[in-house]
Amino acid sequence: MSKRHDVPFFNYSVLFKAREDEYMEVLHDVLSRGAYILQSDLEDFEKNLADFLGVKHVLGVADGTNALKLALLATGIGVKNEVIIPAHTYVASAASVHYVGATPVLVECQHDHLIDPVAVRQAVTEDTRAIMPVQLNGRTANMDVLCEIAEEYDLVIIEDSAQALGSRFKGRSAGSFGVAGTFSFYPAKLLGCFGDGGAVITNNDEIAENIFLLRDHGRNKDGEVVAWGTNCRLDNVQAAILNFKLKTYEQDIARRREIAAMYQEGLTDVDQLVLPPGPNDDQVHFDVYQNYEIEVDCRDELKDYLKEYGIGTIIQFGGKAVHQYPLGFEDVSLPFTEQLYKRALLLPMHTALSNNDVGYVIERIRGFYRI
Ligand SMILES: *Cc1c(COP(=O)(O)O)cnc(C)c1O
Repeated sequence: MSKRHDVPFFNYSVLFKAREDEYMEVLHDVLSRGAYILQSDLEDFEKNLADFLGVKHVLGVADGTNALKLALLATGIGVKNEVIIPAHTYVASAASVHYVGATPVLVECQHDHLIDPVAVRQAVTEDTRAIMPVQLNGRTANMDVLCEIAEEYDLVIIEDSAQALGSRFKGRSAGSFGVAGTFSFYPAKLLGCFGDGGAVITNNDEIAENIFLLRDHGRNKDGEVVAWGTNCRLDNVQAAILNFKLKTYEQDIARRREIAAMYQEGLTDVDQLVLPPGPNDDQVHFDVYQNYEIEVDCRDELKDYLKEYGIGTIIQFGGKAVHQYPLGFEDVSLPFTEQLYKRALLLPMHTALSNNDVGYVIERIRGFYRI
């Protein structure tokens, strides 16, 4: 038996201290150059991220929510348009649709917790303009099926890939399947900065140009105002930190996949649990495990029990699907998603976990079931 010890759900200070000297060097360099807004570190980061993801354009923006809003605006989605999104997502996905004047249409997810293509097809109406798959928990949906539906009904795809940087489906990066994809660099995200940050990616020159203008007061490369815009920039200090962290990002992903494999190996025989797909379950998905979301019957009891033993878990999105907030979805009923929200639990998943931590979590979960 491992000794009782604390395994917090996330650990900002340990993650900072692990590379404190290097972070301080990056900060010192940027600050002493006085390079705060739209400077070379942002350009470098955008270029490096574009190379990493295999896309033409990356545009750093203020955060993941604004990334979605700008992607929708740049695509011309607005009043009278419907956008189909899964109800199992962060409220920000739906809010971004709402704030461009369009209507979010919420649908079910399927067994891997990602948008259900059958439900998408059923939700298409004359007013549908876009599908917004949410690449949740670090997994990319089966984009073959979704792209087929989009083509059939002449819809655009905008991926909310806030949780899936570096995740792939059939070798292609999350965020790169539709007209635009978005990322969040919120501190607890896969690639986190020291505050808010986000990006839009696209292979479409016109959309990239639109977002370039939108994020900086409609100003073109010469600084002239040529369109309506707003202020929605990724600041250069955060970009420098992100650029630095990107260099070792593949190791971070490898570690997350290793932890997922340990959970799978240690918990697969516990009949009371439903585990997420494992890292080597199939050839088409490359999952990066932003989260490790299990399903369990006595969820709240297990959560309390683990807390007693110092283990932090989280019920994603405050335990409510988007249609369960008081936001005007009273008539929407999504039984599969509602059932999932009674059962879903996130286990600790981050790069500061030791093998011993993971082993301890597994041991305590087995202890709860007396196995
Ligand atoms: C984090 C997140 C967002 C929003 O990102 P912010 O940077 O916090 O604005 C949007 N969608 C999903 C699925 C997320 O997890």
